[in-house]
Amino acid sequence: MSPHDQLDTVFRLQERQKKALARLRLITVKDLLYHVPSRYADISTITPLSQTHVGDRVTLFGTLEGLSARKTYRSKVPVTKAKLRDLEGNTIPITWFHQPYLARMLQDGGVVKLTGAITEHNGTPTMVNPEVEKTSDLPIDHHSSLFQNNDSSESFGLPVYRESRGITSRWFYHTVQRCLGDKAHERLDDQIPEAVRTKYSLPSLATALVWVHTPRNEKDATSARKRFAFEEIYLYQLEKKKEKDRYQEYFSYPITLDTKGTQTFIDTFPFTPTGAQTRELETIFRDLEKDHPMMRLLQGDVGSGKTFVAAVASQAIVHQSPQGQDYGNLQVAYMAPTEVLATQLFESFIDYFSGSGIQIGLLTGGECRKYPSKVDPNSWTTISKPQLKKWVAGGEIPILVGTHALIQKTVQFPHLALVIIDEEHRFGTKQRNTLAQKDGKAPHVLSMSATPIPRTLALTIYGDLDVSVLDEYPPGRKPVITELVHPEERDRVYDHIAKELKAGRQVYVICPRIDEPDPDEANKKSQKSVKQEVKRLQSTIFPDYRIAGMHSKMSKAKKQSVMTDFYEHRVDILVSTSVVEVGVNVPNATTIVIEGAERFGLSQLHQLRGRVLRGTHQAHCYLFTDSTNEKTTERLTALAGTSSGFELAEIDLSLRGSGDLAGIKQSGMSDLAMEALKNPKLVAAAREAASQ
Ligand code: ADP
Ligand code: MG
Repeated sequence: MSPHDQLDTVFRLQERQKKALARLRLITVKDLLYHVPSRYADISTITPLSQTHVGDRVTLFGTLEGLSARKTYRSKVPVTKAKLRDLEGNTIPITWFHQPYLARMLQDGGVVKLTGAITEHNGTPTMVNPEVEKTSDLPIDHHSSLFQNNDSSESFGLPVYRESRGITSRWFYHTVQRCLGDKAHERLDDQIPEAVRTKYSLPSLATALVWVHTPRNEKDATSARKRFAFEEIYLYQLEKKKEKDRYQEYFSYPITLDTKGTQTFIDTFPFTPTGAQTRELETIFRDLEKDHPMMRLLQGDVGSGKTFVAAVASQAIVHQSPQGQDYGNLQVAYMAPTEVLATQLFESFIDYFSGSGIQIGLLTGGECRKYPSKVDPNSWTTISKPQLKKWVAGGEIPILVGTHALIQKTVQFPHLALVIIDEEHRFGTKQRNTLAQKDGKAPHVLSMSATPIPRTLALTIYGDLDVSVLDEYPPGRKPVITELVHPEERDRVYDHIAKELKAGRQVYVICPRIDEPDPDEANKKSQKSVKQEVKRLQSTIFPDYRIAGMHSKMSKAKKQSVMTDFYEHRVDILVSTSVVEVGVNVPNATTIVIEGAERFGLSQLHQLRGRVLRGTHQAHCYLFTDSTNEKTTERLTALAGTSSGFELAEIDLSLRGSGDLAGIKQSGMSDLAMEALKNPKLVAAAREAASQ
């Protein structure tokens, strides 16, 4: 058996197994060997029901009774219900939503292990959507019997693999053991050089594969898992670094800094730059001087003043003439994720560049504008798209603001020297490569993001970028007063909102769901939906105000128009899912209510809270939750206690893991690597090894 053999040529597979393997993207023997157990079932970790408490995450062992499957009456969500009777004879009701195949996989009277959290429903402890593992009827008090046909009586636990419909953990175990028995693992190349393994005391690939699938003790298992996490992060880093090197082989316009001109431009602002803004501008100027492209990510909390940095960098670009020319300007393309945001940036830039003689264009799906207008030099005018493109192509418009339509090939920039991407944590390699020109030229790239990610993580995930942080707020900003509100205090908050509305302010209400009620009975009350909340607020709480709803299932145009209505104050209360998150700025909105706050990650809550930070009025953020879970309270209290997104991201990382941090999910890392991302030392070591 070669590690590169396809599984279906080596093993006799049933159709459903083939499908399951395909779903898990396991094609070759090597893939299977790399499918590491998600955990080890250590019998000693099983908790009798009599010792569990609501809120605990536990593994229960016992038999299933009264197994039934049906669909919820209205929303047709598949529900599987059963009761687990443990070895002491105690029972607990179990419910699984959205897993119809469970009913087929499980049997009434079957022996299972369930892992999950004990929650409460109508005062009774219950378990919802636990992980389930079918086990044979083992004499549970004999450790060694877990490996009946095996001489590994010292084994500390049976590996448990991630299952999929059609394939069981048990199948994985036996098949992997056959591959190991055939020594397939010894024919794999170890991608981590020996020197690196020695330096960080990592086992070789062959050893790690044996340890991870058949660990003799916890130490070996941990050491093997550490190695795989290291390997993944190390290879990811290498890939990112290669991408970076590739892009940096292009030529880009070296910018000669006009210190005086820059200072004069900065002096036109009504404020003094913060230390962080000055420092990061310096860094950016050092990058721009080079004749290969800058690839920088500027991270900064909402309100840290990223647009100022973008404006000053743009000014430095447009004040230089293209190479070999003593007239004209180099060009800047500034991209935002939405039309509303692009329009706002266009307006800010008009403000910043007024009187400089620099023309600015706006290109979105809906509209094209040019500043200044011929008729009124203080204002912009609407122009046709072909006209705008012509002016950009002719080099008359040096700064073009817009949505992603900007980098489509139909927009020709003869002298594009800088691309700025706002509020996008991930501007992919593919997109970036479309910026490169046929003649080997490529623009400098500045990505800006308000999504705070702990530094070690940012360096890993964005390994193809240099990372800067604006870690300072402009002075005099009032932090958003954040309060954790229990259900009985709802009226007090509505009183406050009524006052704000009366004073002409606007309000956001964020709901975790779009429409259907949460299928989980226990959540039904607290998990408010946008659609129902619009109705409820309109009919019973704030009948005199204009209320609109927004969510991700609406068309882009519809969302756009709701957002514009809110921006232009034709709507007083915007009820939305978290789609409103991205950096839209409605200065008149001063209060944000977040329903079902426990459902959001801290970083996300912080982003949402940032929606009301900009106003000059004191802003409030109310976190509604019915949860009395201690961890939830701890998390939400942390939010009330700090206004630093980076601090919150660190807390989120330690409490919930990296999977909840925006930007990381999309990285395609395995669960194992995601978990390892919590460990800054391991991440730093993998990065260090990769750069060497
Ligand atoms: P973000 O980083 O969220 O994009 P902005 O660039 O939109 O932040 O800046 C938020 C607000 O702070 C803007 O109104 C901007 O004019 C203002 N601002 C930026 N820098 C400073 C500063 N150094 N001092 C005072 N106000 C500033
Ligand atoms: Mg911004």
